[in-house]
Amino acid sequence: MHTDPECIFCKIVAGQIPCFKLYEDATVLSFMDINPVNDGHCLVITKAHAENFYDAGPDDLQAVIRAAQRVARAVDRALAPAGLNIIQANGPAAGQSVFHYHLHVFPRRAGDNASFNWQQIPGDMQRIEANHGKILAALAQA
Ligand code: AMP
Ligand code: ZN
Repeated sequence: MHTDPECIFCKIVAGQIPCFKLYEDATVLSFMDINPVNDGHCLVITKAHAENFYDAGPDDLQAVIRAAQRVARAVDRALAPAGLNIIQANGPAAGQSVFHYHLHVFPRRAGDNASFNWQQIPGDMQRIEANHGKILAALAQA
């Protein structure tokens, strides 16, 4: 499996940087975003390092979508957001800041005016941890 020792998401996959893990299998990892736009904002990434949608392997992409549906359903059950986007950025102009392929599971509040290129603001860790616990509980019921 391809990894990049300088990549922050590869470090999370390797367990060198902690995360609020939601789901893991041989191919993908899902964890809470630490700069959440809304409660329950989380990521689904390939374990293999690929910079973007162009480079990721088709089997890895399939596994990410499968996991993203599972996680998104759990977010919906746990937090009942008004809506939810699945978002993915390729290149800085598209808002990509971590160059390791990932999907955003992006819960929406009515009137939150979230845009594609949102500002990253550090989240409240206790609140992220609490949402993590609720989503994990919903995943366990799936
Ligand atoms: P993007 O800007 O689409 O590349 O998304 C990268 C996302 O990764 C952003 O929403 C960041 O908040 C998130 N992020 C960066 N570092 C970490 C980390 N150590 N743990 C969790 N999320 C992270
Ligand atoms: Zn990587």
